[in-house]
Amino acid sequence: MRVPFADFNPMHKMIETDIIDKFAEVYKKNQFIAGKECEAFEMEFAKYCGAKYCVGCGNGLDAIYLILKAYDIGEGDEVIVPSNTFIATALAVSYTGATPVFVEPTLEYYNIDVNRIEEKITSKTKAIIAVHLYGQPADMGEINKIAVKYRLKVIEDAAQAHGALYDGHRTGSLGDAAAFSMYPGKNLGALGDGGAVVTNDEELAEKVRHLGNYGSDYKYHHIYKGNNSRLDELQAAFLRIKLSNLDVWNDDRRRIASRYLDSMNNANIVLPQLKENTEHVFHIFAIRSKRRDELEAYLKENGIECNKHYPIPIHRQQAYKDLKFEQGALPIAEEISATQLSLPMYYGMTDEQIQKVIDVVNMF
Ligand SMILES: *Cc1c(COP(=O)(O)O)cnc(C)c1O
Repeated sequence: MRVPFADFNPMHKMIETDIIDKFAEVYKKNQFIAGKECEAFEMEFAKYCGAKYCVGCGNGLDAIYLILKAYDIGEGDEVIVPSNTFIATALAVSYTGATPVFVEPTLEYYNIDVNRIEEKITSKTKAIIAVHLYGQPADMGEINKIAVKYRLKVIEDAAQAHGALYDGHRTGSLGDAAAFSMYPGKNLGALGDGGAVVTNDEELAEKVRHLGNYGSDYKYHHIYKGNNSRLDELQAAFLRIKLSNLDVWNDDRRRIASRYLDSMNNANIVLPQLKENTEHVFHIFAIRSKRRDELEAYLKENGIECNKHYPIPIHRQQAYKDLKFEQGALPIAEEISATQLSLPMYYGMTDEQIQKVIDVVNMF
């Protein structure tokens, strides 16, 4: 038996007729941008997150970028980002002309270490981007306290955490504004690229909408040098169907994670830790091992497909060589990159598949 890293089929089987009917409906309406489906998805997703506004956009990277631009962050400014995240978090900052300032995560939860944020704040710091890495919310209470003290904006990068809870509140409602990705592999994924900004800040929501539509407030009237980043009507229609199933799919991810956590027992691996007062949605089930590469090869030989998130930390990527970070500069991010492994995790994994992953990991 082979166990893939991810498999869309169980999810897609469940919604196939709804998706095809919806495609036919939108196709016949001939409105493909900024129609009723997009409007409805924005209302439904804002409500789901417990926030007032949602603005669809092209992808998760744009969602972060548009929030930063709307807060007038750019050249000469600094934005705090965790040192271990997907590169998009840092790229969004760089695209505005601002500089990403990396803060190390903790090795327990993999999210930004709130005790190391203040030492990186300068007179140029404008915002903190809190990434809810792997699906577990960052320490938002502490992050918001620091932000109030230094008058910084708090932006959630919630690309991996649709539906996750912090103190009973959903991601998307935990800072000043939140960026979501609806890349197909995310917990709430479109059938192509998609993204959204969620916020309670009406002015920000409006500005993000204008910035993502050529800086236009009404047709052929341009108040900003904006770009084009909108959520397609078809993708919005598909996302509405998927959103109505998100809790079921996230529950299933948690079921799989509990089985892994209860039954994996191998001194060579470190299992993820659940943080109090949060509900993890397990976008990724991340383990660590000093013998990571050997473990990955062993799992592969036994038909289990894994992944690494992420094999090269951002500060060691060629794209960021201008920041001149040496090997060893951010040791925790480097340690995670060298030891982290993501195990199979997707809605509809069978009991046999879950058991196989557990058995093979325990035999290593
Ligand atoms: C996927 C992801 C993004 C980027 O989203 P795209 O839709 O692929 O642009 C940003 N941040 C994190 C943490 C992500 O996982």
